[in-house]
Amino acid sequence: MPIVKVADVDFRYKNIWALRDISFEIRRGEFLGVIGPNGSGKTTLVRVIDGIITPEKGEVSVSGIAIRDMKRRDLARLVAVVPQDSAIIFPFRALEIVMMGRSPHLGMLRFEGESDLEIARRAMEMTDTLSLADRSMDSLSGGERQRVLIARALAQESEVVLLDEPTAFLDIKHQVEFFSLMKRLNREKGLTVFAVTHDINLAAAYCDRIMLLKEGRIHSVGAPGEVITELNIREVYETDVLVDANPLNGLPRITLLSSTLSGQGSRSEAGAAPQL
Ligand code: ADP
Ligand code: MG
Repeated sequence: MPIVKVADVDFRYKNIWALRDISFEIRRGEFLGVIGPNGSGKTTLVRVIDGIITPEKGEVSVSGIAIRDMKRRDLARLVAVVPQDSAIIFPFRALEIVMMGRSPHLGMLRFEGESDLEIARRAMEMTDTLSLADRSMDSLSGGERQRVLIARALAQESEVVLLDEPTAFLDIKHQVEFFSLMKRLNREKGLTVFAVTHDINLAAAYCDRIMLLKEGRIHSVGAPGEVITELNIREVYETDVLVDANPLNGLPRITLLSSTLSGQGSRSEAGAAPQL
């Protein structure tokens, strides 16, 4: 049984159709990447799977149960989210934010204990945020804040994490560290990862499968080599790219092309021997 099943989902904001005919499965233990242009429905899809918004038509189920029949805290034990936009949580200290990840595990009679604190600390260690524990969220940089939110999702100890552009504010060191950490948790702990990203090369390097969205529909889904092709990228992004094989791992790698950088443009001229 897949861990997440999305069946025939349509979603609209008033008169804007954000998702149409979306059907796919997230396999247990897989690392599934989602790419697509601005406005193609990626964030909406994350919110539908997390049950924050309810589709007009169709159904999402997690572990075989329709999420509309689930209590919020039961769903939160299965699914954690690192949202794209999280302006509301700024007055809290970083450690308090991470401890919020423990709340689905606390009961009427069970309060936060030493083990919850230990789990939160470990999540902060993994995301390089332990030194920020006492800082207020609104004093942190965008990248630091994002890493604290990732720690909160890890502290939730869910089976699936949904990541909405988790590396958007991260410098290259933290981008690579983050994807490596997610891959390690995925391999060693069987964590299922669903990651929206704009970085097609990182997606190709880390994802088992990639889903490409266009105007609210699934354009293509499959292994990185099947989805990341010059034709698909041109069809969906209306941009010409070069796709070749990354020399390190043979996976597809894209290079942006533009009239000033490619072919007879400045790059080859700059590289040519001086004429005089
Ligand atoms: P992405 O994350 O791929 O950039 P979104 O899922 O945020 O795309 O948006 C999909 C479409 O829905 C876009 O056309 C966007 O303008 C629209 N949309 C997103 N959020 C809202 C909202 N709260 N109200 C109205 N339209 C929205
Ligand atoms: Mg988005």
